[in-house]
Amino acid sequence: MKIAARISLIKPSPTLTIQAKANALKAAGRDIIGFGAGEPDFDTPHNIKMAAVRAIEAGFTKYTPVGGIDELKDAVIAKLQRDNRLTYKRSEVVISCGAKHSLFNIGQVLFEEGDEVLIPSPYWVSYTDIVYLTGARPVIIKTNTADDFKLQPSQLEAAITPRTRAIIISYPSNPAGVSYSLKELEALAEVIVRKGIMVISDDIYEKIIYDGRPFYTLASLGDELKRLSIVVNGVSKTYSMTGWRIGYCAGAEEIIAAITKYQSQNTSNPTSIAQKAAVEALNGPQESVEMMRKEFQKRRDVITETLNAIPDVTCLKPQGAFYVFPNVAAYYGRSFGGKTITNSAEMANYLLDESNVALVPGADFGHDDHIRISYATSMEQIEKGLERIRAALLRLR
Ligand SMILES: *Cc1c(COP(=O)(O)O)cnc(C)c1O
Repeated sequence: MKIAARISLIKPSPTLTIQAKANALKAAGRDIIGFGAGEPDFDTPHNIKMAAVRAIEAGFTKYTPVGGIDELKDAVIAKLQRDNRLTYKRSEVVISCGAKHSLFNIGQVLFEEGDEVLIPSPYWVSYTDIVYLTGARPVIIKTNTADDFKLQPSQLEAAITPRTRAIIISYPSNPAGVSYSLKELEALAEVIVRKGIMVISDDIYEKIIYDGRPFYTLASLGDELKRLSIVVNGVSKTYSMTGWRIGYCAGAEEIIAAITKYQSQNTSNPTSIAQKAAVEALNGPQESVEMMRKEFQKRRDVITETLNAIPDVTCLKPQGAFYVFPNVAAYYGRSFGGKTITNSAEMANYLLDESNVALVPGADFGHDDHIRISYATSMEQIEKGLERIRAALLRLR
């Protein structure tokens, strides 16, 4: 069978692959600790589930407008005003089947062959493939541990060429949990405005941020920035609604119209029932968001401290999201049972085979010296899993 060449440009999502492998081993009876998951371990809050039940019972089960129901667009508009001080109209918002779908749509309507799209690393695994599928070229800007993995304005400026269309930026970041202060963002904004490149801001972890840090999306830094920006967000992470598949983006009317047209020829509208649930998520009580955030922060404290206490492992303390990205390269070149570990993929395999811990190699995020551990799992699992990692690392000679 001939498969179209564009498919060979991309790889299966590594995080979803690890998750599937861990689940298969678990089903086969192995006592696997899953640090691979990119989703909160909490149940979707009850009020949100009930909104969906009501929608089903009321027969709200048919096609909706392609770009989402007005009620949800209005909830998104109110959220962007309330949380981000951004003003948008309905014609500047489109609802899609998850933030990943929003990002994919944006790529399809903005980029083509000859374009370059900047992606600071460590980056979320899907950005590069989303760009490849447009024919454009992802340009990785490798950030340094010494800068706490923060993109420096000079690095940004040096990466911009006449072909640069946009930067895809996300903070707090997956995988390193890096966030930016207002001052740091202003310095990046100066370069962005002067060079006139677009900003695709993936704000999916906006609400999972620690130590009382405020969150600013780049679009809120002034009119020029807003004109250059598309804000992407969704309900998956904030409300533990990964399976519901609701995300959205807001930006210039022309771009939103193009996305809506594109979406009309592939998915049509996002699920009607899930849209009603998302209205309740955005407009309803927000206590569960804070409850989950606090729990993640407690786990962050334990996990960072425990990892840094393992000899030769260094781990930045995340400022948000629910991942840590420790450097384990000191263990590369060491062996166990005649096998030498030379990179993050081999390290992840070793930890899965020898200690039943599933996690994602750092290479998938652009940094081979690291591994990504998701702490979207119980404190008990975290403590048990970290002890296994520690023992497995110390067994290497
Ligand atoms: C999980 C995740 C997404 C995708 O979210 P969905 O709304 O479930 O598609 C987007 N960006 C980042 C950085 C993520 O970690």
